[in-house]
Amino acid sequence: MEKKSEVLAAILSLLFTGLGQIYNGQIAKGIIYMIIGIICAALGVVLIGFILYPLFWIYNIFDAYRTAQNINRNLPPPPPQGTAYQQPQASQPIMKETIIREREIVKVKCPYCQHLVDVTADTCPNCGAREKR
Ligand SMILES: [Zn+2]
Repeated sequence: MEKKSEVLAAILSLLFTGLGQIYNGQIAKGIIYMIIGIICAALGVVLIGFILYPLFWIYNIFDAYRTAQNINRNLPPPPPQGTAYQQPQASQPIMKETIIREREIVKVKCPYCQHLVDVTADTCPNCGAREKR
């Protein structure tokens, strides 16, 4: 079901009883409302319709408005935005891996104990020997 305009539903029912209901997709209800509206209008000739028709007319406007509101409320939420933005997240672990590899390259073997020592370190953390650059 598509989104309905509460205001348009109300305006349609304001113009003619049942129109807003038909707009809301309630075809049978709209037709019944139209028939009731016509009967009420016809009864206007016999005075009582002067009371019945406006009452039903106002009710019909509110009904169309409320129904459109309910339709919109029951609509499933729109698909989550930015689902296409999942790719940069997936590439993040690969980025981390390359950084680790780069750090490994920066490490050099200690000439005394063969321990891998960071080039930025002054002394070997394994044997304490001074590293020469
Ligand atoms: Zn060493």
